[in-house]
Amino acid sequence: MREVDTIFRKARLLDGALSSIAVKNGKIISIDSGGGTDISANHIVDLGGALVAPGFVEGHIHLDTSFYGDAWKPHKPCTAGFDVRERVEFQRQNMAQAAPIAERARNQLELCIANGSTHMRSHVMVDASVGLKSLETIVEVREEYRDIIDIQLVAFPQNGILACSGTAELLDAAFDAGCDVIGGLDPASFDRDIKAHLDVVFGIAERRGVDIDIHLHDQGMLGIFELEEIAARTRALGLQGHVAASHAYALGEVPADVVSQIAQVLAEAGVAIMTNAPGDRSFPPVLELRKAGVVVFSGSDNIRDSWWPYGDGDMLNRAMMIGYRSGFYTDDDLRVAFDVVTEAGAKALQFANYGLRENASADFVVLDAGHIPEAVVSVPKNRSVYKAGKCVVRQGVIVRK
Ligand SMILES: [Zn+2]
Repeated sequence: MREVDTIFRKARLLDGALSSIAVKNGKIISIDSGGGTDISANHIVDLGGALVAPGFVEGHIHLDTSFYGDAWKPHKPCTAGFDVRERVEFQRQNMAQAAPIAERARNQLELCIANGSTHMRSHVMVDASVGLKSLETIVEVREEYRDIIDIQLVAFPQNGILACSGTAELLDAAFDAGCDVIGGLDPASFDRDIKAHLDVVFGIAERRGVDIDIHLHDQGMLGIFELEEIAARTRALGLQGHVAASHAYALGEVPADVVSQIAQVLAEAGVAIMTNAPGDRSFPPVLELRKAGVVVFSGSDNIRDSWWPYGDGDMLNRAMMIGYRSGFYTDDDLRVAFDVVTEAGAKALQFANYGLRENASADFVVLDAGHIPEAVVSVPKNRSVYKAGKCVVRQGVIVRK
């Protein structure tokens, strides 16, 4: 008879089988369709046949700039079409009148946790306009939630690197302040010098031994050219699997033959692509990229901030949006949308010990659905969430911090 801490009975796994999940010291010890009768546990949880999914991976969010839970900030349109610089200025004005960063970050974090995210990557502004102040606050907030969500922090140069003097030094210093990943922003259109921008980003990655995640809104063939440059540098430094481009709208704007060529380049370089399938613009073709071997992951990105008023911190709803906008109807395609917010996210972000498998951390979400395709289209709420085998959310309400 084996002794464990908790056994979860009648757990419906992603293949539909009813199983028992045994957990000891926060890890999954066994997943047994026979019912785990040779196991004794201090604590038994009957899941009643509910669907058990690995915790969601919120792969791209901004904990420092959301106003979720703060006073409503009406959206201001740009004066002449989407302009990153103008939006950054609106953000500066809004932030000056917002609740403290820590309070807003906690609001947003709890929203994500209650919806089932157990892993997260948050970009945090690090540039000469805010210095390391935002990062230091978010590092403290991360510590408060350390036992219920794993968070990577990206040093994000919201005002550019070359365009904002002193930022390169601050980005480097961010790694002494608790940052994990080096970010970037539109090397061409923002800093107007692709080589110099990428020299700083890849230079820090090489020196500090950290992963890279670059915001890339640049459009059409300009964006494709930048992806080629990012891929070439990734290969040259042996960083395959450690580099991501977020948004990469260009992949949704160029002809199919260009997509298939760049998809090969990205796959060979191990550069992952993050998309949140935003409602008003072209976005990367998820299936085509995956077929070529590119890892595609997702995130909420902005939630009620100066960029747009949308976002609910729900990665299952994000999977639905990705499927909806991608024209996913078959069960196989709906499973792809689900994979993007779970396994693919963990792979892109290099979260070890993830998934519903033996020796992984017991991080999972309990959903009122019969199978994955149903979960993606129905987006059931009132979820329960377990982190390291302990209940942190019961029926949509956080019960442990
Ligand atoms: Zn972003």
